Amino acid sequence: MGEGERGSTEPVSFKSGYVTVAGRPNVGKSTLINALVGQKVAIVSEKPQTTRKRLLGILTCPEAQVVFVDTPGIHHPKLKLGEEMVATAERALHEADIVLCLVDVSVPPQPEDELVVQRASRFPVPRLLAANKIDLLPAQEVAEAVARYAALADFEAVFPISALTGTGLNDLLADLIDRLPSGPLYFPPDEVSDQYERDIAAEIIREAALHYLHQEVPHAVAVQVEEWKERPTGMTYIRAIIYVERESQKGILIGAGGQMLKRIGRTAREELEDFLQGRVYLDLWVKVLKNWRKDEQALRRLGLKAR
Ligand code: GDP
Ligand code: MG
Repeated sequence: MGEGERGSTEPVSFKSGYVTVAGRPNVGKSTLINALVGQKVAIVSEKPQTTRKRLLGILTCPEAQVVFVDTPGIHHPKLKLGEEMVATAERALHEADIVLCLVDVSVPPQPEDELVVQRASRFPVPRLLAANKIDLLPAQEVAEAVARYAALADFEAVFPISALTGTGLNDLLADLIDRLPSGPLYFPPDEVSDQYERDIAAEIIREAALHYLHQEVPHAVAVQVEEWKERPTGMTYIRAIIYVERESQKGILIGAGGQMLKRIGRTAREELEDFLQGRVYLDLWVKVLKNWRKDEQALRRLGLKAR
C-alpha cells in the first residue's frame, strides 16, 4: 500500500472496516472468508444453509484491518430458524462499510441472487461483485458467465474469483483495502474471529455430522459443547451433544452398531486436533430436542437467537 508523502506531516493512515459478504446459500461465502483470513473460522459444507449465526473473520495486515462478516445466506425462510437467519443477514448489512455480493458463476443467476443484490442496494456503501467458482468453468466461458451477474446491478467493481483455488483473491483483497475508510484496530491484531474456541469446536463437529448425513436430517442437527478440559497430558477432553428433532433422526445419526456416530466422531476429532494443534478426546452424545427449530427457547439455549 502507499507510503505517506515524504516531508508530509500527515501520518500514514491505517484503514479498517467491515466487509459484509452477502450471497444466497452455498455460493461459497464461508470458503471465501476462510481463504482471505488464512485460517478456518467458518465451516463449509456442500449442504445449503450451513452457516446459522453471524460470524466475523478478521484479517490484520500492516496497513489495514478488514473485518469480514459471514452471514447466513439470504433466502425465503420456512421455519423460525430460517427467519432468524435472514434477520441476522439483514442486520449485518446495516453495519457494513462495503457490501461484497458473492455469486456462483458455475450456474445461471437465480431469483435469490436478485434478492441479495436488491437488499445490498439499499445501503449507501460501495457494492462489489465477486463472481466465485470460476474454476468450474472452461476459461473461455468465464467472461460471459460473469457478465450475466454483473448485469444484475450497478457494481463498483467486479472480480472473477475462485475461493477454492485462490484465483483472483489478491486483487479482490487489495481493492477492498483501497476502499476502506481510515480507522482504528477494532480487534487485537492476532484475533481471527469473534467466536469462542468452544463455539468453533461445536461448529466443526456439526460440519462433520453434515458431511455424513443426507436429506432432511442435516438441518435438524445442532451441536453444543458441554464440557471442555485440558488434561495435564496435553490432551483436550471435549464432551459434546448432537441435538436432533426426532427419535428417527437419532437412530440415523447413531447408525447400525453405532457406526455412523463413530465415523462422525473420528472425522470431527481429526479436524479438532488440527484446529487446536494438539490431541483431543471427543466424547460425543446424541439427544432428541423435540422440534427445536420451531422453539424460541431452544433456539436461545443453542445460541441461535438473540434475546
Ligand atoms: P456458503 O453457504 O455461501 O457459506 O458456502 P460454503 O462456503 O459453505 O461453500 C459451499 C460449497 O461450495 C462447498 O462445497 C465449497 O467447497 C464449495 N465452494 C466454495 N467456493 C468454491 C470455489 O471457488 N470453487 C468450487 N469448485 N467450489 C467452491
Ligand atoms: Mg456459510
